[in-house]
Amino acid sequence: MSERLADGGAHPETHAPGARGAAGTIPLAVPNIGALERHYVVEAVESGYVSSVGPFVAEFEDRFAHRVGAKHAIACSSGTAAIHIGLILLGVEQGDEVLCSDFTFVGSVNPIAYLGARPVFVDSETRTWNLDPQLVAAELDRRAAAGEALPKAVEVVHVLGQPADMEPIVDACDRHGVAVLEDAAESLGAGWSAGRYGGRHTGTVGRLGCFSFNGNKIATTGGGGMIVTDDDALAERARHLTTQAKVPDVGYLHDEVGYNYRLTNIAAGLGLAQLERLDEFISAKQRIAHRYDEALSDLPLDLPPRVPGFDATYWLYSVMVSERDGRGRDELLAHLERRGVGARALWRPLHAQPPFADAPVLGGAVGEGFFARGLSLPCSTDLAERDQQRVIDAVRAFFS
Ligand SMILES: *Cc1c(COP(=O)(O)O)cnc(C)c1O
Repeated sequence: MSERLADGGAHPETHAPGARGAAGTIPLAVPNIGALERHYVVEAVESGYVSSVGPFVAEFEDRFAHRVGAKHAIACSSGTAAIHIGLILLGVEQGDEVLCSDFTFVGSVNPIAYLGARPVFVDSETRTWNLDPQLVAAELDRRAAAGEALPKAVEVVHVLGQPADMEPIVDACDRHGVAVLEDAAESLGAGWSAGRYGGRHTGTVGRLGCFSFNGNKIATTGGGGMIVTDDDALAERARHLTTQAKVPDVGYLHDEVGYNYRLTNIAAGLGLAQLERLDEFISAKQRIAHRYDEALSDLPLDLPPRVPGFDATYWLYSVMVSERDGRGRDELLAHLERRGVGARALWRPLHAQPPFADAPVLGGAVGEGFFARGLSLPCSTDLAERDQQRVIDAVRAFFS
């Protein structure tokens, strides 16, 4: 088992998140699993507490809440499950509208569809690559002025470890009484060091925040997620809904339709170890990003945002390629693949995904540009300096 874990699993797809890839290929981003993880997982197994009842789950929640500075943390079976429950907590129901980042992974929006609610996609800004606050404010103001229904919530995603510009988004939502849910699945460790939210962590600015511990995220539990909130009542209901809405201390009484969404004790053991090593992972990501920034700054690439007062983790180090002489992102991807570099294109915007083709979209051209031009470079936390140099040399060779 330990070897499979150390390999990130025997996965056939070289470009899949968490996959080691073909022999000799530098993978995009693989989990960093070591002795501490083994220790906690073995302890969970030997204790007999393998399922969602067990001491590691509560300990993981407490330490996580403390780490991000939230009053409550509720561990879930995935980030998608966390968002699903989060939307229910905000009262999202069949037919409601939810404004949602357009340029993100599909896990952000699927839970909106599970509830029979309707996403309204909002484009990114180029400064943070995240939700454009002006589009949010203009849409809420316009609807209010026209007497139209307001969305039930705004879901803000912090993509690739980059915090979104929350101040104007929260101002617009507060003005109209619209709740904010943060999808912080990719931004554990990121936050702000200046401004109104200086010292705060992503996920703790909205009414609630959701994290993911999928295999390719900065910290993993194999699969898992977390809801964080300062609201006592929301936290209690989150616990209730994720455990089949079982009423405590009464024989099999379930007072509403609940979900089997709790994290297992084995997974929480893995999470505890990863949380203890989180600072190590964040420094590694930032060191790798810094090295790429230095080595690639003279090339026709847009490097990741560096916004003063916004502390990014550079979870997946991504660049936008400017096409020159008919050669652009796709040619660079093919070139890197031939040289054994596991780069990967960024996401197709959600408005262009078949299940959501009919959903309204505010703007959309920025996210389409990111999809056409964006790719992520290898940035595993254990990436050796000489392997990163191989990536840099390969990228530079493409442009020379
Ligand atoms: C990974 C991810 C999710 C979903 O998390 P899972 O744990 O894979 O269910 C949701 N939103 C974003 C932005 C993600 O990157």
